[in-house]
Amino acid sequence: MKKIGIMGGTFDPIHIGHLLLGQMAYESFHLDEVWFLPNGNPPHKDAVITEEALEHRVNMVELATENVPYFRMVLYEAKIGTHSYTYETMGKFNKLYPGTQFYFILGADSLFAMEEWAHFREIFPTCIILAAMRDDKDQEDMKEQIAYLHRKYGANIELLRAPLLEISSTTIRRRAFRKQSVSYMVPDAVANYIVQNNLYTEASESI
Ligand code: ATP
Ligand code: MG
Repeated sequence: MKKIGIMGGTFDPIHIGHLLLGQMAYESFHLDEVWFLPNGNPPHKDAVITEEALEHRVNMVELATENVPYFRMVLYEAKIGTHSYTYETMGKFNKLYPGTQFYFILGADSLFAMEEWAHFREIFPTCIILAAMRDDKDQEDMKEQIAYLHRKYGANIELLRAPLLEISSTTIRRRAFRKQSVSYMVPDAVANYIVQNNLYTEASESI
């Protein structure tokens, strides 16, 4: 059976936290591939999304994944003007790729927010969730939440062990806005892309 990791996100921009999670999931769960799915609309409330902004996010995911043979960018959710729901995407993927076990990779903030996601119960039968620690959530918090979601919804969730990185796309956008370096927080090609395209130089709510 093929094993595929799914890493969804706004990736505004993609950073080493995302990539390291993909790498650790690949190694620890012996995955065949990890797919990075940039989503169409950022979850930030009232965020204005332009075709251009989406294109930049996609280009950066491409730059960050193109040299890794088992990383793939998948544009299934990268549609302008609509939000793709995880339950829909995962349901579709299960139909499109029979004989594949999907592993949905996420960080602690997402694990603790999942019950607010649309039709979240329908996600659980479609994949094994790999959840990594993040921010103030420690291993005990994670184990409790994993057990709770399993008990309540039959969710199949494993703790994904990865070095803790206190990095977010918000940090990167903020640093770029302040003309600080984002080197070592994103791949070199992404750091160069941000500078060359003057990204995150205008004040906005997401900074
Ligand atoms: P933003 O600051 O814009 O919310 P982000 O860094 O949280 O960006 P997202 O695209 O929102 O990145 O996140 C996609 C997924 O990656 C989420 O499941 C999130 O929990 C996870 N993730 C992002 N950064 C980290 C990190 N440093 N450690 C663990 N998980 C992370
Ligand atoms: Mg986030």
